[in-house]
Amino acid sequence: MTQRQVSSRKNKVRIEERPPAFVYGGKRAARALHCEQVELTTLARRHGTPLYVYSATAIRANVLGFQKAFASQSHTVCYSVKANSNLSLLRLLAGLGCGFDVVSGGELQRVLAVGPEAAAGVVYSGVGKTAAEMDLALKAGILIFNVESAAELELLATRAARLKKTARIAIRVNPDVEAKTHPYISTGLRQHKFGVPISQARELYRRAAAKQWLDPIGVSVHIGSQITDVKPFGETMERVVKLIRQLRADGLNISFVDAGGGLGIRYQNASATVRERSIRQYAQALMKPLRGSELHLLLEPGRAIVAAAGALITRALYAKENGGKQFLIVDAAMNDLIRPSLYGAHHEIVPLHPRVAGKKTVEGAMDVVGPICETGDFFARERELPPVAPGDLLAILDAGAYGMSLASNYNTRGRAAEVLVDGKKAQVIRRRESFEDVVRLEK
Ligand SMILES: *Cc1c(COP(=O)(O)O)cnc(C)c1O
Repeated sequence: MTQRQVSSRKNKVRIEERPPAFVYGGKRAARALHCEQVELTTLARRHGTPLYVYSATAIRANVLGFQKAFASQSHTVCYSVKANSNLSLLRLLAGLGCGFDVVSGGELQRVLAVGPEAAAGVVYSGVGKTAAEMDLALKAGILIFNVESAAELELLATRAARLKKTARIAIRVNPDVEAKTHPYISTGLRQHKFGVPISQARELYRRAAAKQWLDPIGVSVHIGSQITDVKPFGETMERVVKLIRQLRADGLNISFVDAGGGLGIRYQNASATVRERSIRQYAQALMKPLRGSELHLLLEPGRAIVAAAGALITRALYAKENGGKQFLIVDAAMNDLIRPSLYGAHHEIVPLHPRVAGKKTVEGAMDVVGPICETGDFFARERELPPVAPGDLLAILDAGAYGMSLASNYNTRGRAAEVLVDGKKAQVIRRRESFEDVVRLEK
């Protein structure tokens, strides 16, 4: 397949740099966006829009990228389920040797549905674990609980004693390191709700060690999401390794360090080369403080594994001009992909079939918006798009992470279908929600 770029003067999205997932194939007038070897228009016709499409090959490449970059360090990639929790993707990831980072009993149940043996690779994070969720995780025999407060430690000790099951734990420490990212997804500062201040951790470990059914074996951190500068990751790891030295001096047998997730991707000017380099630099930053420590490293990437592997396919419904502003109304909305509305996030938008300007087309700066009754329902504002006409199909790129997992039924819209592509094959991994699905639990 040839990999070319959208060559409109105004649209600089270099799609040829986004393999293996989304590339243009075919000649001239027949040029069409593919996911691997499958033409996206075919999928849109067959399954309707809005439609999430994921590339299995891209997911494999990203996991392999982590495994290669961390090859010199004993480690496990524990994919963060909340980024995209579709069972078929979890099954694919389990097959690649991934463990899982879960933040709720529901996510744990998803992993158990993939296979009860997958529990052995589960890290359970979250500030609000309930007794029922703890019991579920204890019975499943998960790898480690990331405990986020003194009160949680007490409750976990009680539940473990009642079930006579040892809980392996790490305390999630808050390193007070600033990660330059959106305030909603920065988590490692003193004033955040997550973890316990690193200065108080030693005392808490002492308490944990005194509990019969708690086994403190690790230390964990997670400083935020969509972090593109690797420096804060390195600084955090230095602080954590220093704490581990103290804990070992206190007589604790700490053998795991959990670095959390948070490695960002480039939503603009993305390329496979940049992606690989960023994973390598991330690995260097984390591994340097770990040298000679004999610790097993747990990694919890979510976005870095699935974001670029997914796109949301949508159909343009109408074009209109209001108050001198050009709007393109599409059939996907903030209930399908909330990142632009919630974080002001940027997603590249490209046509499935690039076309030349004509009578029915609009081009240039426009707002791409959904049908939902909220002014905040948009995918792009003042975005330079190539010529596009109502009826055209568009791909909203890099939508594989925090897209479907944050989708809702707002405005009584059934959630989109999801398709997984692998080479020439395409498989529906979640069917579109019908009206009956949406109202099923109501009286
Ligand atoms: C959300 C989250 C992750 C994953 O973050 P990404 O930015 O998607 O890599 C990992 N660990 C914890 C504890 C999280 O809350």
